[in-house]
Amino acid sequence: MNILLLGSGGREHAIGWKVSQSPKVDNLFIAPGNAGTSDIGKNVPLSPNDFPGIRQFVLDNNIGMVIVGPEDPLVNGIHNFFLEDEQLKNIPVIGPVKQAAMLEGSKEFGKHFMNRHGIPTAAYRTFTKDNLDEGIAFINRSCPPYVLKADGLAAGKGVVICPTADEARLELHSMLMESKFGAASAIVIIEEFLIGIELSVFVLSDGKTYKLLPEAKDYKKIGEGDTGPNTGGMGSVSPVSFADKQFMDKVEKRIIIPTIEGLKNENLDYRGFIFFGLIKVDGDPYVIEYNCRMGDPEAESVIPRIQNDLVDLFLAVSSQQLEKEVILTDPRFTGTVMLVSKGYPDQYEKGKVITKQENIKDSILFHAGTKREADKVVTSGGRVIAVSSWGSSIKEALDTSYRNAGLLDFEGRYYRTDIGFDL
Ligand code: AMP
Repeated sequence: MNILLLGSGGREHAIGWKVSQSPKVDNLFIAPGNAGTSDIGKNVPLSPNDFPGIRQFVLDNNIGMVIVGPEDPLVNGIHNFFLEDEQLKNIPVIGPVKQAAMLEGSKEFGKHFMNRHGIPTAAYRTFTKDNLDEGIAFINRSCPPYVLKADGLAAGKGVVICPTADEARLELHSMLMESKFGAASAIVIIEEFLIGIELSVFVLSDGKTYKLLPEAKDYKKIGEGDTGPNTGGMGSVSPVSFADKQFMDKVEKRIIIPTIEGLKNENLDYRGFIFFGLIKVDGDPYVIEYNCRMGDPEAESVIPRIQNDLVDLFLAVSSQQLEKEVILTDPRFTGTVMLVSKGYPDQYEKGKVITKQENIKDSILFHAGTKREADKVVTSGGRVIAVSSWGSSIKEALDTSYRNAGLLDFEGRYYRTDIGFDL
Protein backbone atom coordinates (compact mmCIF):
# COMPACT_ATOMS: atom_id res chain seq x y z
CA MET A 1 0.00 0.00 0.00
CA ASN A 2 1.10 3.58 -0.62
CA ILE A 3 0.60 5.88 2.35
CA LEU A 4 0.51 9.66 2.58
CA LEU A 5 1.38 11.21 5.95
CA LEU A 6 0.56 14.90 6.44
CA GLY A 7 2.76 17.15 8.58
CA SER A 8 6.36 18.16 9.12
CA GLY A 9 7.22 17.88 12.82
CA GLY A 10 8.81 15.44 15.22
CA ARG A 11 5.41 13.80 15.70
CA GLU A 12 5.17 13.05 11.98
CA HIS A 13 8.75 11.74 11.88
CA ALA A 14 7.91 9.42 14.80
CA ILE A 15 4.67 8.19 13.19
CA GLY A 16 6.42 7.80 9.82
CA TRP A 17 9.37 5.96 11.40
CA LYS A 18 6.95 3.42 12.83
CA VAL A 19 4.72 3.18 9.74
CA SER A 20 7.77 2.63 7.49
CA GLN A 21 8.56 -0.55 9.48
CA SER A 22 5.29 -2.17 8.39
CA PRO A 23 5.59 -4.86 5.69
CA LYS A 24 2.29 -3.54 4.31
CA VAL A 25 3.91 -0.31 3.08
CA ASP A 26 5.21 -0.01 -0.47
CA ASN A 27 5.78 3.74 -0.54
CA LEU A 28 5.51 6.27 2.25
CA PHE A 29 5.08 9.91 1.24
CA ILE A 30 5.29 12.76 3.74
CA ALA A 31 3.82 16.17 2.92
CA PRO A 32 5.74 18.35 3.41
CA GLY A 33 8.04 16.46 5.83
CA ASN A 34 11.51 17.52 6.96
CA ALA A 35 15.13 16.38 6.53
CA GLY A 36 14.52 13.39 8.82
CA THR A 37 11.41 12.12 7.07
CA SER A 38 13.28 12.04 3.76
CA ASP A 39 15.28 9.13 5.24
CA ILE A 40 12.14 7.03 5.85
CA GLY A 41 10.05 8.01 2.84
CA LYS A 42 9.65 10.57 0.07
CA ASN A 43 8.91 14.18 0.94
CA VAL A 44 6.27 15.91 -1.17
CA PRO A 45 6.15 19.72 -1.34
CA LEU A 46 2.46 20.02 -0.43
CA SER A 47 0.80 21.87 2.44
CA PRO A 48 -1.41 19.69 4.69
CA ASN A 49 -4.12 22.32 4.14
CA ASP A 50 -3.96 22.24 0.33
CA PHE A 51 -6.89 19.84 -0.10
CA PRO A 52 -7.14 20.04 -3.94
CA GLY A 53 -3.36 19.46 -4.17
CA ILE A 54 -3.62 16.47 -1.82
CA ARG A 55 -6.54 15.09 -3.85
CA GLN A 56 -4.50 15.19 -7.06
CA PHE A 57 -1.46 13.61 -5.37
CA VAL A 58 -3.56 10.82 -3.84
CA LEU A 59 -5.12 9.94 -7.20
CA ASP A 60 -1.84 10.20 -9.14
CA ASN A 61 0.06 8.00 -6.67
CA ASN A 62 -2.52 5.36 -5.85
CA ILE A 63 -2.53 6.29 -2.15
CA GLY A 64 -4.35 3.73 0.02
CA MET A 65 -4.29 5.58 3.34
CA VAL A 66 -3.88 9.16 4.55
CA ILE A 67 -2.56 9.77 8.07
CA VAL A 68 -3.13 13.28 9.39
CA GLY A 69 -0.49 14.45 11.90
CA PRO A 70 -1.47 18.02 12.87
CA GLU A 71 -4.81 19.45 13.98
CA ASP A 72 -5.41 22.20 11.38
CA PRO A 73 -6.32 20.01 8.40
CA LEU A 74 -8.66 17.99 10.65
CA VAL A 75 -10.38 21.09 12.00
CA ASN A 76 -10.51 22.39 8.41
CA GLY A 77 -12.34 19.19 7.43
CA ILE A 78 -9.89 17.07 5.43
CA HIS A 79 -11.68 13.87 6.43
CA ASN A 80 -15.03 15.32 5.27
CA PHE A 81 -13.36 16.45 2.02
CA PHE A 82 -12.42 12.81 1.33
CA LEU A 83 -15.84 11.43 2.30
CA GLU A 84 -17.62 13.90 0.02
CA ASP A 85 -15.51 13.01 -3.05
CA GLU A 86 -16.61 10.04 -5.21
CA GLN A 87 -13.01 9.08 -6.02
CA LEU A 88 -11.62 9.54 -2.50
CA LYS A 89 -14.43 8.39 -0.24
CA ASN A 90 -13.15 4.84 0.25
CA ILE A 91 -9.58 5.83 1.12
CA PRO A 92 -9.02 5.57 4.89
CA VAL A 93 -8.21 8.88 6.56
CA ILE A 94 -6.72 8.59 10.05
CA GLY A 95 -8.12 11.52 12.02
CA PRO A 96 -11.68 12.59 12.92
CA VAL A 97 -14.20 14.43 10.76
CA LYS A 98 -14.45 18.18 11.28
CA GLN A 99 -17.44 18.04 13.63
CA ALA A 100 -15.57 15.64 15.96
CA ALA A 101 -12.25 17.52 15.62
CA MET A 102 -14.13 20.44 17.22
CA LEU A 103 -13.21 18.84 20.55
CA GLU A 104 -9.93 20.66 19.88
CA GLY A 105 -11.04 23.22 17.28
CA SER A 106 -13.36 24.97 19.75
CA LYS A 107 -12.59 24.95 23.45
CA GLU A 108 -16.17 26.08 24.10
CA PHE A 109 -17.45 23.05 22.19
CA GLY A 110 -15.08 20.81 24.18
CA LYS A 111 -16.23 22.27 27.51
CA HIS A 112 -19.93 22.02 26.64
CA PHE A 113 -19.34 18.42 25.47
CA MET A 114 -17.73 17.54 28.81
CA ASN A 115 -20.61 19.13 30.68
CA ARG A 116 -23.19 17.24 28.63
CA HIS A 117 -21.47 13.94 29.42
CA GLY A 118 -20.53 14.52 33.07
CA ILE A 119 -16.77 14.51 32.36
CA PRO A 120 -14.76 16.22 35.12
CA THR A 121 -13.19 19.53 34.06
CA ALA A 122 -12.63 22.99 35.56
CA ALA A 123 -15.76 25.11 36.10
CA TYR A 124 -16.04 27.78 33.39
CA ARG A 125 -17.99 30.59 31.74
CA THR A 126 -17.76 31.83 28.16
CA PHE A 127 -17.78 35.45 26.98
CA THR A 128 -17.90 37.37 23.68
CA LYS A 129 -17.57 41.08 22.94
CA ASP A 130 -21.35 41.36 23.46
CA ASN A 131 -21.06 40.47 27.15
CA LEU A 132 -17.61 41.82 27.98
CA ASP A 133 -19.15 43.58 31.01
CA GLU A 134 -20.29 40.26 32.43
CA GLY A 135 -16.79 38.89 31.87
CA ILE A 136 -15.26 41.77 33.80
CA ALA A 137 -17.82 41.30 36.60
CA PHE A 138 -17.05 37.56 36.64
CA ILE A 139 -13.33 38.30 37.07
CA ASN A 140 -14.14 40.81 39.85
CA ARG A 141 -15.94 38.20 41.89
CA SER A 142 -13.54 35.27 41.17
CA CYS A 143 -10.25 34.44 42.85
CA PRO A 144 -6.81 34.54 41.26
CA PRO A 145 -5.14 33.14 39.28
CA TYR A 146 -7.43 33.56 36.26
CA VAL A 147 -7.30 31.13 33.33
CA LEU A 148 -8.35 32.75 30.03
CA LYS A 149 -8.61 30.63 26.90
CA ALA A 150 -9.20 31.67 23.31
CA ASP A 151 -11.88 29.40 21.90
CA GLY A 152 -10.25 28.55 18.57
CA LEU A 153 -6.88 27.22 17.39
CA ALA A 154 -4.11 29.65 18.31
CA ALA A 155 -0.97 27.62 17.61
CA GLY A 156 -0.75 26.54 21.27
CA LYS A 157 -0.63 30.14 22.52
CA GLY A 158 -4.30 30.73 23.28
CA VAL A 159 -4.19 30.02 27.03
CA VAL A 160 -3.16 32.88 29.30
CA ILE A 161 -2.90 32.53 33.07
CA CYS A 162 -3.17 35.89 34.83
CA PRO A 163 -1.97 36.25 38.44
CA THR A 164 -4.01 39.41 39.15
CA ALA A 165 -7.52 40.67 38.35
CA ASP A 166 -6.04 43.76 36.63
CA GLU A 167 -4.09 41.58 34.21
CA ALA A 168 -7.10 39.33 33.63
CA ARG A 169 -9.35 42.30 32.76
CA LEU A 170 -6.74 43.68 30.33
CA GLU A 171 -6.23 40.24 28.78
CA LEU A 172 -9.97 39.69 28.33
CA HIS A 173 -10.27 43.08 26.67
CA SER A 174 -7.33 42.39 24.38
CA MET A 175 -8.65 38.96 23.34
CA LEU A 176 -12.26 40.04 22.73
CA MET A 177 -11.98 43.67 21.62
CA GLU A 178 -8.55 43.74 19.93
CA SER A 179 -8.70 40.23 18.45
CA LYS A 180 -5.40 39.29 20.10
CA PHE A 181 -5.63 35.79 18.61
CA GLY A 182 -7.68 36.83 15.55
CA ALA A 183 -10.98 35.02 15.09
CA ALA A 184 -9.80 32.39 17.61
CA SER A 185 -10.42 34.82 20.50
CA ALA A 186 -13.90 36.00 19.43
CA ILE A 187 -15.08 33.71 22.24
CA VAL A 188 -13.10 33.50 25.49
CA ILE A 189 -13.46 30.90 28.21
CA ILE A 190 -12.60 31.87 31.76
CA GLU A 191 -12.13 28.87 33.98
CA GLU A 192 -11.26 27.78 37.45
CA PHE A 193 -7.51 27.30 38.08
CA LEU A 194 -6.77 23.70 38.98
CA ILE A 195 -3.75 22.78 41.10
CA GLY A 196 -2.19 19.42 40.41
CA ILE A 197 0.23 17.52 38.19
CA GLU A 198 -0.39 17.13 34.45
CA LEU A 199 -0.10 14.18 32.10
CA SER A 200 -1.15 13.27 28.58
CA VAL A 201 -3.29 10.20 27.90
CA PHE A 202 -3.90 8.87 24.38
CA VAL A 203 -6.36 6.50 22.80
CA LEU A 204 -7.00 5.29 19.28
CA SER A 205 -10.72 5.28 18.47
CA ASP A 206 -12.54 3.66 15.56
CA GLY A 207 -15.82 5.40 16.39
CA LYS A 208 -17.16 2.32 18.21
CA THR A 209 -14.52 1.40 20.73
CA TYR A 210 -11.06 2.56 21.82
CA LYS A 211 -7.63 1.24 22.71
CA LEU A 212 -5.54 2.88 25.39
CA LEU A 213 -1.98 3.78 24.32
CA PRO A 214 0.98 4.44 26.64
CA GLU A 215 0.63 7.69 28.57
CA ALA A 216 3.28 10.43 28.68
CA LYS A 217 4.26 13.62 30.42
CA ASP A 218 5.50 16.60 28.46
CA TYR A 219 7.47 19.66 29.54
CA LYS A 220 6.13 22.83 27.96
CA LYS A 221 8.15 25.67 29.50
CA ILE A 222 11.42 26.81 27.97
CA GLY A 223 13.32 27.06 31.29
CA GLU A 224 14.64 24.61 33.85
CA GLY A 225 12.19 23.75 36.63
CA ASP A 226 9.22 24.62 34.37
CA THR A 227 9.89 28.35 34.21
CA GLY A 228 9.61 30.99 31.49
CA PRO A 229 7.34 31.09 28.45
CA ASN A 230 5.46 28.14 26.97
CA THR A 231 6.88 26.30 23.97
CA GLY A 232 5.58 23.56 21.69
CA GLY A 233 7.24 21.15 24.16
CA MET A 234 10.82 20.66 25.35
CA GLY A 235 10.76 16.96 26.18
CA SER A 236 8.64 14.05 27.31
CA VAL A 237 8.74 10.77 29.17
CA SER A 238 6.68 7.58 29.18
CA PRO A 239 5.31 5.88 31.26
CA VAL A 240 4.33 8.34 34.00
CA SER A 241 4.96 7.10 37.55
CA PHE A 242 1.91 8.68 39.16
CA ALA A 243 -0.43 7.22 36.52
CA ASP A 244 -0.83 4.01 38.53
CA LYS A 245 -3.57 1.43 37.99
CA GLN A 246 -5.97 3.03 40.45
CA PHE A 247 -5.61 6.44 38.79
CA MET A 248 -5.83 5.06 35.23
CA ASP A 249 -8.98 3.13 36.17
CA LYS A 250 -10.55 6.46 37.17
CA VAL A 251 -9.34 8.01 33.90
CA GLU A 252 -11.00 5.28 31.84
CA LYS A 253 -14.22 5.19 33.84
CA ARG A 254 -14.76 8.92 34.34
CA ILE A 255 -13.17 10.38 31.21
CA ILE A 256 -12.35 8.02 28.33
CA ILE A 257 -15.50 5.88 28.31
CA PRO A 258 -17.89 8.86 28.68
CA THR A 259 -16.00 10.63 25.88
CA ILE A 260 -16.28 7.68 23.48
CA GLU A 261 -19.94 7.09 24.41
CA GLY A 262 -20.64 10.83 24.12
CA LEU A 263 -19.14 10.96 20.63
CA LYS A 264 -21.26 7.98 19.59
CA ASN A 265 -24.45 9.41 21.07
CA GLU A 266 -23.87 12.69 19.27
CA ASN A 267 -23.12 10.91 15.96
CA LEU A 268 -19.61 12.32 15.84
CA ASP A 269 -17.57 9.88 13.77
CA TYR A 270 -14.20 9.70 15.51
CA ARG A 271 -11.55 7.56 13.81
CA GLY A 272 -8.11 8.54 15.00
CA PHE A 273 -6.09 9.57 18.02
CA ILE A 274 -7.73 11.34 20.96
CA PHE A 275 -5.36 13.20 23.25
CA PHE A 276 -6.60 13.88 26.77
CA GLY A 277 -4.64 16.65 28.49
CA LEU A 278 -5.28 15.74 32.13
CA ILE A 279 -4.45 17.09 35.55
CA LYS A 280 -4.40 14.97 38.70
CA VAL A 281 -5.97 16.92 41.56
CA ASP A 282 -6.04 15.18 44.97
CA GLY A 283 -5.86 11.80 43.24
CA ASP A 284 -8.68 12.55 40.77
CA PRO A 285 -8.35 13.24 37.02
CA TYR A 286 -9.76 16.38 35.33
CA VAL A 287 -9.62 17.25 31.63
CA ILE A 288 -7.64 20.40 30.82
CA GLU A 289 -8.11 19.98 27.08
CA TYR A 290 -8.85 17.58 24.26
CA ASN A 291 -6.67 17.38 21.16
CA CYS A 292 -7.75 15.60 17.99
CA ARG A 293 -4.29 14.15 17.18
CA MET A 294 -1.14 12.82 18.86
CA GLY A 295 0.87 15.22 20.99
CA ASP A 296 4.30 16.51 20.09
CA PRO A 297 6.77 15.79 21.79
CA GLU A 298 4.69 13.05 23.46
CA ALA A 299 4.57 11.06 20.19
CA GLU A 300 8.37 10.81 20.26
CA SER A 301 8.15 8.93 23.59
CA VAL A 302 4.86 7.08 23.03
CA ILE A 303 5.26 5.73 19.47
CA PRO A 304 8.58 3.93 20.24
CA ARG A 305 6.78 2.04 23.03
CA ILE A 306 4.04 0.66 20.73
CA GLN A 307 5.06 -2.75 19.42
CA ASN A 308 2.09 -3.34 17.10
CA ASP A 309 2.24 -2.77 13.38
CA LEU A 310 0.84 0.78 13.28
CA VAL A 311 -0.59 0.26 9.78
CA ASP A 312 -2.60 -2.72 11.07
CA LEU A 313 -3.95 -0.56 13.88
CA PHE A 314 -4.86 2.22 11.44
CA LEU A 315 -6.61 -0.25 9.12
CA ALA A 316 -8.60 -1.50 12.12
CA VAL A 317 -9.47 2.11 12.99
CA SER A 318 -10.82 2.84 9.53
CA SER A 319 -12.77 -0.43 9.21
CA GLN A 320 -14.07 -0.16 12.79
CA GLN A 321 -12.45 -3.47 13.78
CA LEU A 322 -10.32 -2.06 16.60
CA GLU A 323 -12.06 -4.27 19.15
CA LYS A 324 -10.04 -7.24 17.85
CA GLU A 325 -6.66 -5.55 18.36
CA VAL A 326 -4.48 -5.82 21.45
CA ILE A 327 -2.00 -3.03 22.10
CA LEU A 328 1.45 -4.44 22.80
CA THR A 329 3.51 -2.07 24.88
CA ASP A 330 7.28 -2.13 25.25
CA PRO A 331 7.83 -2.33 29.02
CA ARG A 332 10.92 -0.14 28.77
CA PHE A 333 10.84 3.56 29.60
CA THR A 334 11.37 6.28 27.00
CA GLY A 335 12.73 9.78 27.45
CA THR A 336 12.81 12.54 24.83
CA VAL A 337 14.87 15.73 24.87
CA MET A 338 14.11 18.49 22.34
CA LEU A 339 16.94 20.53 20.88
CA VAL A 340 15.78 24.04 19.97
CA SER A 341 17.17 27.08 18.16
CA LYS A 342 18.69 30.07 19.91
CA GLY A 343 15.95 32.58 20.78
CA TYR A 344 13.06 30.08 20.71
CA PRO A 345 10.12 30.44 21.56
CA ASP A 346 10.49 34.12 20.53
CA GLN A 347 12.32 35.17 17.37
CA TYR A 348 14.81 32.41 16.64
CA GLU A 349 17.71 31.69 14.32
CA LYS A 350 17.46 29.46 11.25
CA GLY A 351 19.78 27.99 8.64
CA LYS A 352 22.37 26.62 11.10
CA VAL A 353 24.18 23.51 9.91
CA ILE A 354 23.54 20.42 12.06
CA THR A 355 26.59 18.20 12.50
CA LYS A 356 27.69 15.01 14.25
CA GLN A 357 24.47 13.08 13.53
CA GLU A 358 26.71 10.14 12.64
CA ASN A 359 28.00 10.03 16.26
CA ILE A 360 24.61 9.19 17.72
CA LYS A 361 24.27 5.69 19.19
CA ASP A 362 21.37 4.09 21.11
CA SER A 363 18.94 6.98 20.49
CA ILE A 364 16.52 7.78 17.68
CA LEU A 365 16.58 11.27 16.22
CA PHE A 366 13.14 12.57 15.31
CA HIS A 367 13.54 15.69 13.21
CA ALA A 368 11.22 18.68 13.57
CA GLY A 369 12.47 22.00 12.16
CA THR A 370 15.13 20.72 9.77
CA LYS A 371 15.63 20.75 6.01
CA ARG A 372 18.20 19.58 3.51
CA GLU A 373 20.34 22.13 1.73
CA ALA A 374 22.65 20.55 -0.83
CA ASP A 375 24.39 17.78 1.15
CA LYS A 376 23.83 19.43 4.54
CA VAL A 377 21.02 19.34 7.09
CA VAL A 378 20.17 22.81 8.44
CA THR A 379 17.78 24.15 11.07
CA SER A 380 14.50 25.59 9.76
CA GLY A 381 12.34 25.89 12.88
CA GLY A 382 12.29 26.65 16.59
CA ARG A 383 12.15 23.04 17.70
CA VAL A 384 14.84 21.28 15.69
CA ILE A 385 15.41 17.63 16.69
CA ALA A 386 13.98 15.36 19.38
CA VAL A 387 16.41 12.82 20.84
CA SER A 388 14.51 9.74 22.12
CA SER A 389 15.89 6.70 23.92
CA TRP A 390 14.74 3.60 25.74
CA GLY A 391 15.94 2.55 29.18
CA SER A 392 15.10 0.30 32.10
CA SER A 393 14.17 3.45 34.06
CA ILE A 394 13.28 7.05 33.19
CA LYS A 395 16.74 8.02 34.35
CA GLU A 396 18.50 5.50 32.14
CA ALA A 397 16.44 6.52 29.11
CA LEU A 398 17.09 10.21 29.71
CA ASP A 399 20.80 9.67 30.43
CA THR A 400 21.15 8.17 26.95
CA SER A 401 19.13 10.99 25.37
CA TYR A 402 21.25 13.59 27.17
CA ARG A 403 24.51 11.94 26.15
CA ASN A 404 23.43 12.14 22.52
CA ALA A 405 21.83 15.59 22.82
CA GLY A 406 25.27 16.81 23.93
CA LEU A 407 26.92 15.25 20.88
CA LEU A 408 24.66 16.74 18.20
CA ASP A 409 25.77 20.19 17.22
CA PHE A 410 24.44 23.37 15.67
CA GLU A 411 25.13 27.01 16.50
CA GLY A 412 22.93 28.32 19.33
CA ARG A 413 21.59 24.86 20.23
CA TYR A 414 19.64 24.83 23.53
CA TYR A 415 17.90 22.10 25.50
CA ARG A 416 16.52 21.70 29.00
CA THR A 417 18.67 19.50 31.21
CA ASP A 418 15.92 18.60 33.70
CA ILE A 419 13.28 16.68 31.74
CA GLY A 420 11.53 14.30 34.15
CA PHE A 421 12.73 16.28 37.20
CA ASP A 422 9.35 16.13 38.93
CA LEU A 423 8.77 12.39 38.67
P1 AMP B 1 -4.05 24.03 27.08
O1 AMP B 1 -3.58 24.72 25.82
O2 AMP B 1 -5.52 24.03 27.28
O3 AMP B 1 -3.38 22.70 27.26
O4 AMP B 1 -3.43 24.88 28.27
C1 AMP B 1 -2.05 25.14 28.34
C2 AMP B 1 -1.57 24.96 29.74
O5 AMP B 1 -2.22 25.89 30.60
C3 AMP B 1 -1.90 23.60 30.33
O6 AMP B 1 -0.97 22.62 29.97
C4 AMP B 1 -1.89 23.90 31.82
O7 AMP B 1 -0.55 23.90 32.30
C5 AMP B 1 -2.42 25.30 31.88
N1 AMP B 1 -3.86 25.29 32.19
C6 AMP B 1 -4.88 25.26 31.31
N2 AMP B 1 -6.06 25.24 31.95
C7 AMP B 1 -5.79 25.24 33.27
C8 AMP B 1 -6.59 25.23 34.47
N3 AMP B 1 -7.93 25.23 34.41
N4 AMP B 1 -5.95 25.22 35.65
C9 AMP B 1 -4.61 25.24 35.72
N5 AMP B 1 -3.80 25.27 34.65
C10 AMP B 1 -4.37 25.27 33.43
